[in-house]
Amino acid sequence: MKKYDIAIIGGGPSGIASAIAIPDDLNVVLLEKNPSLGKKLLLTGGGRCNITNNKPLKELLNSFYQKNFLKHSFYTFSNDDLFSYFDIDFIEEDDNRIFPKSGKSHDVLDNLKKHLKNIDVKLNYEVKEIKDNFIINNEIKVSKLIIATGGVTYPQTGCGPQNYFLTTQPLTKIKYGLVPLITSENLSEIAGITLYNVVSTYNKVKIKGNVLISHVGLTGPGIINLSSEISRNLDYDILKDDKDLKFTISIDLCPEYSLEDLKNKFTNDFQLKGKTQINNYLKQLLTNNFIEFFLNKVKIPKNMQLSKINKKSKNRLIESLKHFNFKIAGFNKDLSKVTIGGIDLKYVNSKTMESKITPNLYFAGEVLDVDGPTGGYNLKIAFSTGFLAGLSASEK
Ligand SMILES: Cc1cc2nc3c(=O)[nH]c(=O)nc-3n(C[C@H](O)[C@H](O)[C@H](O)COP(=O)(O)OP(=O)(O)OC[C@H]3O[C@@H](n4cnc5c(N)ncnc54)[C@H](O)[C@@H]3O)c2cc1C
Repeated sequence: MKKYDIAIIGGGPSGIASAIAIPDDLNVVLLEKNPSLGKKLLLTGGGRCNITNNKPLKELLNSFYQKNFLKHSFYTFSNDDLFSYFDIDFIEEDDNRIFPKSGKSHDVLDNLKKHLKNIDVKLNYEVKEIKDNFIINNEIKVSKLIIATGGVTYPQTGCGPQNYFLTTQPLTKIKYGLVPLITSENLSEIAGITLYNVVSTYNKVKIKGNVLISHVGLTGPGIINLSSEISRNLDYDILKDDKDLKFTISIDLCPEYSLEDLKNKFTNDFQLKGKTQINNYLKQLLTNNFIEFFLNKVKIPKNMQLSKINKKSKNRLIESLKHFNFKIAGFNKDLSKVTIGGIDLKYVNSKTMESKITPNLYFAGEVLDVDGPTGGYNLKIAFSTGFLAGLSASEK
């Protein structure tokens, strides 16, 4: 049986970060079931890799539900610490999102791999069983173990429900996060349209951002971030009951106007511009290609003059501009970018990433019950928790 000081299971960003943190004098094996490392990392940011987010640390932490748990890892391994492992340049885009200047996720992975020279990397190696005394697949015996196996989404990258059952560590409910929505109605006729800076609402949660209409439903940052909030609110667990969940979301198409302001504006404009056709009038408020679809929904002919629109229709128009509803038939599960839920944080020490139940067992990355919005937040989690797990496993 082959012996190592530390084994890391999972060669994604969190597993690689763990490996990088471990000093060279320790004997380390990194086990990855795919034929190559970082398969999901290469897909990130549409192939450009939004590697982290550069908001000031306090503000960044406030973006996470699990900020108390993540705090120590974020302070231990900052963005500057992360950048120090690269000999490439990075650029900052809107919302403090950081990308490699080359625009290639491959450059990120290649740089990270350079730091694995002293690690025994075993590819095409799927861990199927871990015995109590840290014997892996009856072949490898280790003193310490880091589990960095990721979540359930994008199974083609090596993730899946089985990742959670390598240990008996307690789990929370597992849900889809950052996931496009499938609408009950077919939207192909308006697919490709973007609604800019609208506010999408589910119950009391409001998220401002662009909404992109796809052939099957709604996506874009505004919807993707709202989807995680919706998912958290719905009662389900992928591991037990992966049913389709139906609900309705509402979009404020004119968030720059309050309902009152919009009413006043319409009253004035309808008097002053009575001869203007409604489809032309709405061009100042709505994306051009969306207007016809919108007017069909509110049942007002597109070429009707403002002076001909009666009070009831005008009120319906205003109401729909502020609350345009879409019935949702479910999540577009195959495109969920992150898993909500995972290894229950109650039983993991946030200062070390070590299990509070099984000494010498550590967790890192998305396998934990940690997730963030879109914008580099999830790779930030993977790198920081991964590095801390590697550091702690070497120090003890
Ligand atoms: C399309 C897409 C785009 C994304 N874009 C961004 C972005 O731009 N910015 C951002 O911050 N986040 C992004 N994310 C999220 C981010 O990629 C993940 O949160 C991150 O990769 C999680 O890292 P991880 O190392 O914990 O898990 P993973 O990257 O999933 O890696 C886990 C690894 O473990 C391996 N493994 C699992 N089980 C076993 C086993 N039993 N034996 C051996 N190996 C095993 C898997 O094969 C896999 O390689 C994106 C996600 C997707 C799907």
